[in-house]
Amino acid sequence: MDIPKELEEVINITRQENQWRRTETINLIASENVMSPTAEAVYMSDFMARYAEGKPYKRFYQGTKYADEIEVLAMNLMNDITPAKFSDLRPISGTIANAAVFRVLGNPGDKALIAPVQAGSHVSHTKFGTLGTLGIEHIEMPYDKDRMNVDVDKAGKMIEEIRPKFVVLGGSLYLFPHPTKELSPYVKSVNAKLVYDAAHVYGLIVGKVWSNPLDEGADYMTTSTHKTFPGPQGGSILSNNEEDFKKVSRTIFPWFVSNHHLHRLPATAVALIEMKYYGKEYATQIIKNAKKLAEALAERGFNVIGEHLGYTKSHQTAVDVRKFGGGAKVAKLLESANIIVNKNLLPYDSPESVNDPSGIRIGVQEMTRFGMKEGEMEEIADLFKQIVVENRDINEMKKKVSEFRKQYLDIKYTFNVDLSSYSTKSIPMII
Ligand SMILES: *Cc1c(COP(=O)(O)O)cnc(C)c1O
Repeated sequence: MDIPKELEEVINITRQENQWRRTETINLIASENVMSPTAEAVYMSDFMARYAEGKPYKRFYQGTKYADEIEVLAMNLMNDITPAKFSDLRPISGTIANAAVFRVLGNPGDKALIAPVQAGSHVSHTKFGTLGTLGIEHIEMPYDKDRMNVDVDKAGKMIEEIRPKFVVLGGSLYLFPHPTKELSPYVKSVNAKLVYDAAHVYGLIVGKVWSNPLDEGADYMTTSTHKTFPGPQGGSILSNNEEDFKKVSRTIFPWFVSNHHLHRLPATAVALIEMKYYGKEYATQIIKNAKKLAEALAERGFNVIGEHLGYTKSHQTAVDVRKFGGGAKVAKLLESANIIVNKNLLPYDSPESVNDPSGIRIGVQEMTRFGMKEGEMEEIADLFKQIVVENRDINEMKKKVSEFRKQYLDIKYTFNVDLSSYSTKSIPMII
């Protein structure tokens, strides 16, 4: 039979995505990353078709001996490089990791304190998301405008007064570290638990440029494995306390997953190995690039937030683009020139303006992975200026952006593995 038209269409859409996002765009979405070719090669494996309910070596199915081996290996690597005493890689996303921890720590009707939305808390921490669906009430801690962070003194008092079941730190728009060490004694004093959601910054933590919250008093760390950490989309829960860890770990199956997308495991292991050897270098460059991009944008007339604090200590920078028509308009304009960012609420925006916020959020982790350094950040800032400030011809800008991007197509901070020497068949990505 001839190849049906629908099938052609599927292959074509996939090819176009690969071409556009991998070779033509400057991707600055702060929550994304790409895997190395080696990680992608092991991701495309038989594991993607299998089940392994339960824990390694205590499964409910047969046929899992290699799944057991790879899961233990990945968890050991994760414990080693985080470092943490215990980890569970079965949550298939950061949201599922949060759901498991929140569910174990709180019952419907209980209270949880979270970082204020202005300090970047994630929707899964709120009554609109995972926490709310579990029937747990969220109460935002007070915000310190000047430090662009949780107000430690007021939040400490609030913890003592409200006596929540748990406190959540970590966020999504997130320029400066949340005060884990400072709030931990308050949390302990009311017998609550401290959960640190490291979804965005886990790669910075294993790269040793962001404090490990487990060293600063967090009882749990939840994370995604695909933001600054360059693994497959997935999640994890980590802890240094066996009792705390076991309470959550025993709920993952059967409460939150049946299969846990086993093909993530070898790919996560590859990313962990890459971060073990290159993590420090990679994460250090990310931080330098974020700061450089913030400075370069400010020099070119953009209102980059957090100037008095040095703009950023993370992989992100945030820009107030109201004078150019607002976040929604500017993000669309940039997309039409092949620069991908997202519109974002800024700390002083009202939550109602979520569809047309003042700002855009920019993350440099993916472009750093393709080898970009401070010089390239200056070039990206030039492109921003030409597109947004000078309103130059969009088609010409699109071409210019693609030409620039095509100089950076190889992933760095990885090992050159000759994959053909392991394979009799090759399934290359269709670009
Ligand atoms: C992205 C994010 C999550 C959700 O992670 P997923 O893997 O997309 O489910 C949770 N918390 C924070 C702070 C995030 O930024």
